[in-house]
Amino acid sequence: QIFGESRKNSASINIDIESEWTPFNAAIQAFSQHQWQAGPIVNGVTLDGEQHAITAPYNRSESVGQVAFSSASQVAQAIDVASEAYPEWSQVAASERGECLQRLADLLELHTGELVALCHREAGKTIQDSIDEIREAVDFCRFYGEQASSELASAKSIKSFDGSTKQLSYQGRGVFACISPWNFPLAIFLGQVSAALAAGNTVVAKPAEQTSLIAYRAIELMLEAGVPAGAIQLLPGTGAEVGATLTTDVRIAGVAFTGSTETAQRINRSLVARDCEAVPFIAETGGQNAMIVDSTALPEQVVRDVVRSAFASAGQRCSALRVLFVQADIADRIITLIKGAMAELSVGRPELHSTDVGPVIDIAAKEKLLKHIESLKNQSKLVAQAQLNDECKLGDFVAPTAFEISSIDILKNENFGPILHIVRFKANEIDQVVDQINQTGFGLTLGVHSRNERTYCRIEQRARVGNCYINRDQVGAVVGVQPFGGQGLSGTGPKAGGPHYLYRFTKDVLSA
Ligand code: NAP
Repeated sequence: QIFGESRKNSASINIDIESEWTPFNAAIQAFSQHQWQAGPIVNGVTLDGEQHAITAPYNRSESVGQVAFSSASQVAQAIDVASEAYPEWSQVAASERGECLQRLADLLELHTGELVALCHREAGKTIQDSIDEIREAVDFCRFYGEQASSELASAKSIKSFDGSTKQLSYQGRGVFACISPWNFPLAIFLGQVSAALAAGNTVVAKPAEQTSLIAYRAIELMLEAGVPAGAIQLLPGTGAEVGATLTTDVRIAGVAFTGSTETAQRINRSLVARDCEAVPFIAETGGQNAMIVDSTALPEQVVRDVVRSAFASAGQRCSALRVLFVQADIADRIITLIKGAMAELSVGRPELHSTDVGPVIDIAAKEKLLKHIESLKNQSKLVAQAQLNDECKLGDFVAPTAFEISSIDILKNENFGPILHIVRFKANEIDQVVDQINQTGFGLTLGVHSRNERTYCRIEQRARVGNCYINRDQVGAVVGVQPFGGQGLSGTGPKAGGPHYLYRFTKDVLSA
């Protein structure tokens, strides 16, 4: 337990219990037709710009709202404002910065109904995923807020050789750029921003273009919570324009990025090319996540965890299972059970409690995934494909699909959707399997199913991954309990929601 026994994560609601669900549903329904408006927020003022329509991923004829994208001059203006505000915000006591984030967490909880509706309609998440999304955002704000109050508030005394005492204190670094993906449009967005602010930086945030509305609403609540207008700027727009302009500006003192490995590499190159000092680059990126199942595993438990890890949230989690390695002795049994479980998957409108798998984020994602499925049909064995109903034609859906493939080596990239690849291995090949996983260069999550302690300990030691999960599913890390982040092509660390993340946003200063 980090920060002692008193720290608590937010409470969930059980949507299957009528008395919990009914009042909550009323709050969601109040926003079922709502049209949200968003745009750049610079110094607390919403600016105009070229308008873009946002529609629901599950039904492209359902409008969710409009967002104005930021112009180049607005990007420059936002960095000006954040630079001017930095000296004052960095001098605000860390405990006071932490309190702002606690108030923001309270406001997020107060507006949960609206935020669940918005997350569900803009990002196409199921209601349960949307509830979990808001809770995670609340947890990040409380976690980093509390850490700022308890760890950054006072300097640490350091004894010198001559008996004198020096003070080591933590300060913000300047203007941090926070660039986030659409798949956790509130939790990751606010996780980055709240950590950067808690550490004493001012922030220019660029949310994913697909999910600008919820980011805008979060910043409105942040201002209401008392974060000064100069400390937080929001710049909706594309990565190629707004994102790239931000990361080439020499006034940016650090970048927190979550997204694909390719984009991280591009940003890294542009930071290196800047003619100024090196700055921290915190990148949390993609994975080629595997699960290894040996012959001692319990098949029913394996299949439950495989289906959740590969297909929950339409496979659009960075931690999601992509490649299942099954020991040949039990592979036929496991594959038969997977086929059966996939036949039961309900794919469709994400507001229905019965839906297991909702849409993917947009048409571009859908086409990329369908192209991968088509290419595998020619070179691999199709194991199973879930059914899409007629309603799925209204939006961007991809049927959960499983293939048996010859080797993980045929997968060159992360396939960010509901596609599972299965590889058989022989009993004496476990070490080679782990080596093949390591050789992909990615290192985000790994699942292991085995009742043999020596086997799973050996795999855990040999694997180069950020998060290893034994005899359970491999998605859904909990803030403060399961710090999350990868290594290699999957990220720089430190892990989000862990004890070291906040420090990466600070510089430590020693005074005599
Ligand atoms: P993405 O395409 O890399 O985009 C991420 C963010 O970067 C977006 O805001 C994007 O803007 C922006 N961007 C794009 N090009 C840029 C550039 N040249 N300069 C600066 N910013 C730029 O990723 P995504 O499709 O949104 O998200 C899915 C990916 O995120 C997957 O690979 C997933 O594994 C990864 N992910 C990792 C973690 C983790 O913790 N490791 C968590 C969640 C997701 P646009 O609005 O234009 O796209």
